[in-house]
Amino acid sequence: MNSPLTLDTIVIGAGLTGLTVGHHLLKDPNHKFTILEKEERAGGQIRTLKKDGFTFESGPTSGIISTSEVADLFEDFPNLLNLATPLAKRRMILKGQEFHPLPSGLISAITTTLFSTKDKIRILGEPFRAKGTDPNESIGHLVKRRLGESYFHYAVDPFIGGIYAGDPEKLVTRHALPKLYALEANHGSFIKGAIALMKKKKTEDEKKITKAIFSSHEGLSTLTSALSDEFLKANSLKLGALNIEVRFREDLQLWQVTFYVKGEKEELFSRNLITTIG
Ligand SMILES: Cc1cc2nc3c(=O)[nH]c(=O)nc-3n(C[C@H](O)[C@H](O)[C@H](O)COP(=O)(O)OP(=O)(O)OC[C@H]3O[C@@H](n4cnc5c(N)ncnc54)[C@H](O)[C@@H]3O)c2cc1C
Repeated sequence: MNSPLTLDTIVIGAGLTGLTVGHHLLKDPNHKFTILEKEERAGGQIRTLKKDGFTFESGPTSGIISTSEVADLFEDFPNLLNLATPLAKRRMILKGQEFHPLPSGLISAITTTLFSTKDKIRILGEPFRAKGTDPNESIGHLVKRRLGESYFHYAVDPFIGGIYAGDPEKLVTRHALPKLYALEANHGSFIKGAIALMKKKKTEDEKKITKAIFSSHEGLSTLTSALSDEFLKANSLKLGALNIEVRFREDLQLWQVTFYVKGEKEELFSRNLITTIG
């Protein structure tokens, strides 16, 4: 029997996460990998539509440079992504019939009418509040427990709606907002954790995290198309890969991955397996 082709890594899912993983793997010419995607297109939630001279996004419209990997994408595709104007930092929240600016500093956080006086006073006790015990606590439950109802309704709920178009009462914090979860898990409090992070000496990678907002004039699909083109050229992206099955072969110490493309069964072996699907 011929020995099977062994890859270094198989990535499942060609949304932005899988494509970004692939982009980093591609930097090592000796690293052999394949991305498997069930759809006939890459991009996942990111999908740009053009009509009558307008650009529409059916999924995300913007992002934040919140990891060094995103900063690297900016460096590698300088013409595809655009930083938002500083005006975009002014976020407006609808409360009752009026829009209110989301506080961006200590003074505005004290004077805003978005949050109740009770919660503003209560937040002073946040560093002393007991740590949660449920690893699967929802974002809604965690924020109400630590900060209060009004912070949940007028800061966190609109933010989560904008990012996930999801219900914060159902999203598990550990998965949806791992950095927020880590603040409480590692430091016992959001405030104590935020202060500890501010004091920590930043690595070169962390210095790239500017928190700037970005989008793309031509639509975010230009980024996912540019990424997937790299892999199609390198023959390391398989679209229409259906019924993927994975199992770890103890005898080979390898992952065995089978799937079907246009009805034909294919099989790959790999040392590492990364899945980006929910
Ligand atoms: C309406 C909406 C608006 C959003 N707005 C924003 C925003 O403004 N800013 C922001 O930062 N985020 C936003 N988000 C969230 C953002 O879109 C996601 O966090 C991000 O796109 C997730 O990328 P991903 O690669 O992890 O997952 P996905 O984009 O879901 O990609 C997963 C990929 O895996 C594939 N796949 C799934 N199952 C299998 C399988 N069994 N076999 C093979 N392939 C499989 C899917 O087809 C897909 O291509 C929004 C989301 C939605 C839905």
